[in-house]
Amino acid sequence: MKKKAIEKIPYIGIERTSRKKGAKYIAATMVKLVGHEKHLITEVYRNKKGDLDVPLVRIVLTKKDFGTFFVESGVWSRALIAGSSWCSKYPVWDKGGREYDAGKENVIRSDEDLQRIKSFPGVEEKSWRSQTWYGLINDRIDDISTKERRARENRRWERRQQGLKERAENTPEIDEQKLLEYADRVIFREKHYLYYKKRGSWARVACSKCGGVNEYRWKPGISYESQFQRMIDEPRQGGFGTCPMCGARGEWKPQGKVMDSYSKAAHLFVGQKYKETGMVFRYYEVEKEYQLGLICENNGPLMENACEELSGTEIARVYFEEGRKPQKDYHKQSTWDGKDFWDDCNLYGKENINISEGPILPETWEAMKGTIFRYSAMQEYEAAEDGYINPVDYLERYMQTPQIEMLTKLGLIKVVENLVKCRYGIVANEHADRVDTFLGIRKEHVRLLIRHQGEENILKILKDEKRLEQQWTDEQIENLVELSLESRNGWMVVLEHMGVQKMLNLIGKYAGAEYGTGCSRATSRLRAVAQTYFDYINMRQALGYDMSNSVYLAPKDLDVAHQVMVTEHNKKEADARIREAEQKFPMIRKHYRRLRKKFFYEDEDFCIRPARSAGEIVTEGRVLHHCVGGDNYLGKHNDDISTILFLRSKTEPDVPYITVEIGTNDLKLMQWYGAHDKKPDEDNMRRWLDVYVTKLKCGLVGTAEAAGDGEDTEIEAEDEQVLAVPA
Ligand SMILES: [Zn+2]
Repeated sequence: MKKKAIEKIPYIGIERTSRKKGAKYIAATMVKLVGHEKHLITEVYRNKKGDLDVPLVRIVLTKKDFGTFFVESGVWSRALIAGSSWCSKYPVWDKGGREYDAGKENVIRSDEDLQRIKSFPGVEEKSWRSQTWYGLINDRIDDISTKERRARENRRWERRQQGLKERAENTPEIDEQKLLEYADRVIFREKHYLYYKKRGSWARVACSKCGGVNEYRWKPGISYESQFQRMIDEPRQGGFGTCPMCGARGEWKPQGKVMDSYSKAAHLFVGQKYKETGMVFRYYEVEKEYQLGLICENNGPLMENACEELSGTEIARVYFEEGRKPQKDYHKQSTWDGKDFWDDCNLYGKENINISEGPILPETWEAMKGTIFRYSAMQEYEAAEDGYINPVDYLERYMQTPQIEMLTKLGLIKVVENLVKCRYGIVANEHADRVDTFLGIRKEHVRLLIRHQGEENILKILKDEKRLEQQWTDEQIENLVELSLESRNGWMVVLEHMGVQKMLNLIGKYAGAEYGTGCSRATSRLRAVAQTYFDYINMRQALGYDMSNSVYLAPKDLDVAHQVMVTEHNKKEADARIREAEQKFPMIRKHYRRLRKKFFYEDEDFCIRPARSAGEIVTEGRVLHHCVGGDNYLGKHNDDISTILFLRSKTEPDVPYITVEIGTNDLKLMQWYGAHDKKPDEDNMRRWLDVYVTKLKCGLVGTAEAAGDGEDTEIEAEDEQVLAVPA
């Protein structure tokens, strides 16, 4: 679109006589030749006296192209002018317009203008959507951009197909037979089965290797002829024997325990050189299937033949090239014609193809020479991992983090394992070229880490040492590893106030055990004590104690000190819950006096009264281990729906005994429980409560108004007590 030339064309302008009543916008059109091409130019004006000379937008349409010029801002747009289903959107020049009136508000100057639009190449009345002048143009724009998008998608698809083809053509041939032989040797360990069925002193044997079937005597006979009969050792399930027909070793399997087919599958990789210096890793699934053929005889099934079959399917190829992201191609099968094809994306129906670990064909190492991976040290890594790795992950990480070569060669295999699994949290400086700076540990401890193959627990401790600017001996570090400190908060606190040796000694003393004995009982004792000790320290600190105090750091009796902290910690939590309940349910305290007048009752043995406050209910629930302290009961009491009453012995009025819930208005006994949701002294107490409720309903319960003064003073005092909640 020749934008500059189009912008230079003078505006059409609307004569004042063409103004339409009730319309918000008026459109006018013209057809102009720009660069020998016909352009349909449609301008939209605001229907106002002063706005008839300069349009808001100029919509330009050619045979194959389009564009909208916003006059005021000077911006060109290739968006639709009214959305893809225009009835739900208003035109772009009328952001605040009302949708349902859009047709009435946006009119066209004359029939000639409308004809100009309708007769422009490509414009057609498609449906109800093309009822307005801008509907016609919008549909045309929609058509053109859809075509463009499709063309773009086609081009992309073709590019991808070309890429796939090009990669396939540059992928070297592979000797699949060799690959299967390798799989049989290394993965399936050339496993064969000798199926058998015993009948008296005889056994029928079928060999999966040679497929032969024959009868043999396994128990010596007493007859003369039996000396000349073919003998085998007695077949035993799970044992190994030699096939008397072909000499192969095989596992004995009784015929009755065999399904007619049985298979094992595994994965393996082969790496090949790709183009100049790249590599392609090919991922195969190999399968070994064992079959036993049976025929029906009069006395049951009879083994007739046996065989084994190896097969392999290539699943994925990963192409590595210098300076390029690895390209993964996947082998798929079309769901409609069943044909195999290669695709460059993984999505395949609902299943994702996953590349996992597996053995690597040895010829890979030869192919690796002279490629970008010649220094990757992957062969060393493979050896350290017993030949079972995911080379794709390793090489992807190696391309990202070439230090992997150094780490592998130093024997820091556990560190490499973490990196291969993308756990980069252990890296201190990804750009460092030295192990100590790369991992964030002290230089002098690299050797110690190597001795431990880069184990994560020792690495953590070495990183802490560096971070805390400490200098520990190898022995101290090994001792810390032995303690296997999980959460580090506690011992970081301790180390602020004492040296590491003192801390180790202290734990050793509490445990009564030595470090580094190699005795698992000593180690687990040390670990358990360290756990208790740091748990104690954490609680002590959280409760706000001054941790520089040596009595707190090194209590005489750790178990006692720990228990004290647990109790204190629990109390603190309980107090917090009481404060929360008091805040949330303030009405319980306010209702108290009124409810006391209504519900208070006592006889020689027991008294019953409503709860004074939310906190008191929480405490009752905690002491009696039932759920009355929950928000549900507190809420009902707070909202005057039901009342929580405390039934207590007169001799111990402060000791919770039975908690009662009663309907505040209907006076219905809803439930009553003692400790642990049990009903203590059940018959007796039930009778007591029945009498109480009856009296309550007859108005024989409650404190008389007149009894006021003395009682009230007492209540005040009680209230004070409850209010004194620890801050
Ligand atoms: Zn055989």
